[in-house]
Amino acid sequence: MLKKLFQSFRPPAPSVHHIRTTPQVLNSGQHSLQRHQFSRHAVGIVERLQQAGYQAYLVGGCVRDLLLGITPKDFDVATSATPEQVRAEFRNARIIGRRFKLVHVHFGREIIEVATFRAHHPEDDEADSHLSSRHQSGRILRDNVYGTLEDDAQRRDFTINALYYDPVAERILDYANGVHDVRNKLIRLIGDPLQRYQEDPVRMLRAVRFAAKLDFSIERRTVQPIRELATSLRDIPAARLFEESLKLFLSGQAADTFEMLVDLQLFDHLYPASAYALEFNPTYTHRLIRNALVNTDLRVAQGKPVTPAFLFAALLWPALPMRAAHLQAQGLPPIPAIQEAAHELISEQCQRVAIPKRFTLPIKEIWDMQERLPRRTGKRADALLENPRFRAGYDFLLLRESAGEHTDGLGQWWTEYQELPDSERRAMIRDLAGRDEEAAAPRNGRRRRRIGGAEE
Ligand code: ATP
Ligand code: MG
Repeated sequence: MLKKLFQSFRPPAPSVHHIRTTPQVLNSGQHSLQRHQFSRHAVGIVERLQQAGYQAYLVGGCVRDLLLGITPKDFDVATSATPEQVRAEFRNARIIGRRFKLVHVHFGREIIEVATFRAHHPEDDEADSHLSSRHQSGRILRDNVYGTLEDDAQRRDFTINALYYDPVAERILDYANGVHDVRNKLIRLIGDPLQRYQEDPVRMLRAVRFAAKLDFSIERRTVQPIRELATSLRDIPAARLFEESLKLFLSGQAADTFEMLVDLQLFDHLYPASAYALEFNPTYTHRLIRNALVNTDLRVAQGKPVTPAFLFAALLWPALPMRAAHLQAQGLPPIPAIQEAAHELISEQCQRVAIPKRFTLPIKEIWDMQERLPRRTGKRADALLENPRFRAGYDFLLLRESAGEHTDGLGQWWTEYQELPDSERRAMIRDLAGRDEEAAAPRNGRRRRRIGGAEE
């Protein structure tokens, strides 16, 4: 299908990684884009800016995605007008950003981001909303560095993200052979890969994210330095890595993303404890994380909401038993050992990837549920059913079972319990009590001996 989209376009040799001084121009007959596919508000902004005498284009993800037949997440505009000049054109515009100013133009719930052409600066990192630690550590912040359209294309990350669409002339401007790479399904950095990753290591994660999301390959020169440079993710603020993490795992292609992150050794730097678990308990860890991500992808595909807490709970869970065992060996009883291990694991993880409190609390609750779900006698089962975390806890139990963990049919038991009427639930609890009585004596005996042993 893509071949057809670009049939009238003859691409130049693919070895060119650098920016052309004059762009390849694709007129309306030479590409598949149509003005009406773009947000009418975004198109309106471009028209208005052009009428006011500025250059203005739709740019980045929206152009790339529409060429691929994907519905864009949002629509970005790039222009020669400064933020103040943009604001002067629109009543509903607000300047945002401290270090690098952008304009948000509001149309009800839709926000169109309008950015002034920027020049590439070697020390610049691209995180508009997240100052890097280098910047936070007292270096004088530079003012906005505006540039020409060509400069703007040059500072973008991948060739496929540097396409400019003019909805008035219905032309695409392509400075970096991005259309060629869209057609050949290639993620290719603009410029020298080593240098571009050193400027902003998050580009390594973006390469993986786009490769998975679009089902593209990462071009050889673009992939080659990643394993060696993976450690440079350490310099990235944990808050930015959290946002990237969410994008990586909520893209709808989280399972593939995970495999790629592991393969390129990026996962080790994002989730070190999980990477350790992958090494020491590979089959279970890999299955558990993969199954969680496959489920997530399914939910995204069905338009269902995804709870990031569940995802992070799954990512970290395989590291928990090792940590708890270590604490038990130091003398902590089993339950406090697990709680302490959970606490340590999460706070260490937050040093790398700053998972906010609104997620860490539910992670602990999902894990706590795993301790409580086996204890069902008396009124406990009904109390658990009423617990707002029951559903997540139960789903998590099924996930553990799907990864091969033996729980003595606990998941099946809970599935039936939820489905049955009250009278039959009572019978299930009675059966359980009977079973427990048979098993109680030796088990309690063992437990007592162990605790006694730890206290000696
Ligand atoms: P998505 O569909 O995920 O939003 P996107 O391409 O729009 O994809 P954004 O993160 O929204 O990605 O960034 C918008 C554009 O800004 C990109 O297409 C790219 O041109 C540029 N850009 C973003 N981050 C970087 C970066 N770290 N380095 C260079 N250019 C970047
Ligand atoms: Mg975007």
